[in-house]
Formats: sequence, structure tokens, C-alpha cells
Amino acid sequence: MITARAFKASDAPGMRWDVERVRKDFPALDQQVHGKPLVYLDNAATSQKPQAVIDALVGYYSRDNANVHRGVHLMSERATEAYEGARVRIQRHLNAASAREIIFVRQATEGINLVMATFGRSFVGPSDEIVITAIEHHANIVPWQMLCEEKRAALRVVPVDDRGDLIMEEYARLLGPRTRLVAITQVSNALGTVTPIKEIIRLAHRHQIPVLVDGAQAVPHHQVDVQDLGCDFYVFSGHKTFGPTGIGILYGKETWLERMPPYQGGGDMIKAVTFEKTIYNELPYKFEAGTPHIAGAIGLATALEYIAGLGLDRIGAWEHGLLAYGTELLATVPGLRLIGTARRKSAVLSFVLDDIHAHDLGTILDHQGVAVRAGHHCAMPVMQRFGVPATVRASLAFYNTPAELETLASAVQKALEIFR
Ligand code: PMP
Repeated sequence: MITARAFKASDAPGMRWDVERVRKDFPALDQQVHGKPLVYLDNAATSQKPQAVIDALVGYYSRDNANVHRGVHLMSERATEAYEGARVRIQRHLNAASAREIIFVRQATEGINLVMATFGRSFVGPSDEIVITAIEHHANIVPWQMLCEEKRAALRVVPVDDRGDLIMEEYARLLGPRTRLVAITQVSNALGTVTPIKEIIRLAHRHQIPVLVDGAQAVPHHQVDVQDLGCDFYVFSGHKTFGPTGIGILYGKETWLERMPPYQGGGDMIKAVTFEKTIYNELPYKFEAGTPHIAGAIGLATALEYIAGLGLDRIGAWEHGLLAYGTELLATVPGLRLIGTARRKSAVLSFVLDDIHAHDLGTILDHQGVAVRAGHHCAMPVMQRFGVPATVRASLAFYNTPAELETLASAVQKALEIFR
């Protein structure tokens, strides 16, 4: 039995959020799994897509499909206009100073690898240091490890406390004359910790150290203003932001991007090629070799417009209410331990239940229609820090409802009964 109080309007203060109306924009939410209504709580892995994004993809492929920047024909002009228009819409969403600073990549992972391969290989040498944190996703650990191995540089890791908050004194201590880059997440996917990213950037810049922000879990939930943050690089993925898979963004300050060599060689990233010498293209094309994911770019811009239209403040308020309510509901389940209780948290409920393995629990939840993720969430060092092999993670989006959280809590309760 779930005994927590009911969800009240005051949980999401000052707002009228017609969640049922919003849900109608997402066709995939309206289905049954294992004979039960789908409760989709795996948004940190990937989010569902609104009809507007699906229509943008279908519209592009049905009318405008052609290669960009090359053709002299009308369809190619339309495709180029749509693709470059998407770049400008994304620039505005992030408040980047110029569209030249917006590079299309496959996803956050590729954005980080691009910075590693270009900035990293150019500006990191033996005995230099790169600072990350204990709560990074593997995508923001492994590329730096690879670079450190190649350059005989060292990785320095900011520890977290028992709540999952960064220990900022340790961070400040790690910054020094050998630090070449700080690469830190804005929101942890495994714990939901919202890091004090502005302060992190401010401290690094005091030492003239550039900062890369992993925004994969931030852009779907928060308004991000890269000029206000002052970060040097920012990455995120389309598919977690209600957009298509296979598209993501690397934002980079123009001053850095100009100094960095290209990432991959090929078509579009050149101005002129002879066998003796190649002259590279200007920004942003220098970093976009080959035919890009044109439809993906258009779909991503549409997704960002969609969430901006709903209002990121309103999204944040609703999710905040859901998170508080979900936390309370789960606290009523005996033997449940929440992993990650940071002071500022985004919409993630990561937990373990007695000694039941996370995968077994995840499977039982799935059979009750509740889609969660069970595992290490590509953040094995976080699991080690908290002494668990894996967690079950329910991750929320603005289309989730209080009733869905009640279904989650009941399903967890049922699992407990099965295992007892
Ligand atoms: N960083 C964080 C914080 C993430 O949550 C993820 C995805 N779980 C990534 C990076 C990598 O995202 P992608 O696989 O889309 O590149």
C-alpha cells in the first residue's frame, strides 16, 4: 500500500500544467506493454518524440531530401536552407554568440571525442592534467583516459560526498598550472545531481583553464545559456532532448574552434584540395566532414522549439514537483535506498531495494508496464563510490504524471512481495 500524501497543485507551484494535453503530443506514450498502460520512466536513456518532430522528419524526407551545400538545384537549396536554418535555431536556443560556434555531431559522445581529438591532441602534453568528477558518464571519462594514455598526462577526479554533491574545496584544490581542461557534467545521469556549473567555470577561468560542459542531461530539463555560463565547450544529444537519434551538438567558443585542427577529413570540411595541400573550410564546416544528418538537425531544432514553446521554467517546475512526490512515494517502500540525494537534483530517482538485483527488479517493473533502466548507467565509478553494482533508475520528463509515479511505487512494492 502506498501511504504517501496525494500530489497537490502546490507541488508544482504557480502553474497550470495540462499534462494530459502535453501527452497527446507524444504518440509513443499511448500504448500498452505486457497488457498494461505504458509508464515511460527511462527518459535519461532516451526521451520520446513529439509529433512535431516526427512531422519535421517526414516532411523533410517527403519534400526536400537532397544533399546540402553542393547542389545547384532547388531541392538542394531547400535542404541547405533547412539545415542551416536549424543551426541558427539551435544557436538561438543556446544563446551562442554565432552559428559558427554550433557544430553538428552524432551525439554528446562524439562532441566530447571531437574536443579530445582536436583540442586535446593540440594542447595537452606530458604531465599535464585534465580534471573530471566522480559522477561523469563514461562518455566524459574514457576519451580523456585515452588522451592521457597517449600524451602521458594525468586524470584528476573531483570526489563527491554521500549525497552525490561535488566536494567543491577538492575541486578548487585540483586546479593548478598543469590543468589543461576541466570536463564536467551539468547534471549526473546516474544520480540526478545538478552541479554548480557556473561556479565550476568561474573557478577554472580564474586559472585560464577552459571548461567543457557535458549537458546531455541538462538541455532536456533546463534553459541553457552558453554565454551566461561562459563555458568554452558544451555538448548534448538530440535523442535525450525529444529529438532524433544520431544528432547532437558541440558548442565551442569561436576563439578555441579557430585554433583547433579539423576532426575528420573529407568532403565539406575543405575549401580547396590538391595533392600537395588542403585548405580547410571556415567554421563550422571545418568540423563537419561528409554528408551530415540533415533530417536529424532539422528534427533537433524542432524539438528545441517545442520545449521552448512549452516553457523551460514551467517544465522545470512540473518536474521538480514530480521529483519531490516520487521521492516521498519511494521513501514509503521498506528496504528501498535512494542513491543520490544531492541538494540540487534533476528528475532522476536511482535506487536499490534490499538485496534484490537491479535487473530482476527492472524486469518485474517492465511486466507491470513500467519502463526503467537497471544497471550501472554507463557510470561505473559512481556505482563503486556508492558501493552498489547497479541501481534501478526512474528518470522523468515533463510528460510524466503523479499517477505514473504511484504506479512505479506500487510496482516496486509488488516486487518486494514477490521476492519475500
Ligand atoms: N553524458 C551524460 C550525462 C549522459 O547521460 C549520456 C547518456 N546517458 C551521455 C553523456 C552520452 O550520451 P550519448 O550516448 O547520447 O552520446
